[in-house]
Amino acid sequence: MNPRVLAAVTRVLAVALLPAAFLRSPRRARYFACQWALGLRFPAEDLRGLTAATARAFTEARTLAFWRDHQLIGLTCGHRDAALQHRMFMEEVRRTGSVAAARCRVLPPDESSHVSGIALDVRPTEGARWLEEHGAAFGLYRRYDNEWWHFEHHWTPPPRLPYPGVAAEAATVVMSVPDPRSGRSQSFRQAGGRGSLQR
Ligand SMILES: [Zn+2]
Repeated sequence: MNPRVLAAVTRVLAVALLPAAFLRSPRRARYFACQWALGLRFPAEDLRGLTAATARAFTEARTLAFWRDHQLIGLTCGHRDAALQHRMFMEEVRRTGSVAAARCRVLPPDESSHVSGIALDVRPTEGARWLEEHGAAFGLYRRYDNEWWHFEHHWTPPPRLPYPGVAAEAATVVMSVPDPRSGRSQSFRQAGGRGSLQR
């Protein structure tokens, strides 16, 4: 079915669910009706395993997107357990032929924010665009230039990186400061970051 038609049907559904949602929680009727309708629109999505703060931020953000801007946001993938992440990483290593190349797309379990429960792969592209524009109000940030779908929940804005595997390089930050003697800029490297920038 055409995505626009699906979106319209989902909105009609959410409005129809409002009375039931009102019975569930009079003050949060629009919130619950939105989650129920989106759950029917994206039946495969699974919010289990996300940290409580991440799940709250995501559901609050998409409630606003849904009712105010008529934008649907679905979850393609949230939490992954370490075993699955390990399999995905090894598969990517096999596919690309090197660990470095694999890290551009998939991180090992101990570095993955999907394993720690703060990462959200969302859809469709319009929904991701909405989240990129408005997500900061909810602590949700796009992290990588090469992944329009990947967002993470953070209490303070994290740096935007070109791709996931840049994390190890980001542990060393190149700083540029003016040299008082010459008046020119002087670059030096400073160890920094926690090396935990994740996908
Ligand atoms: Zn992701």
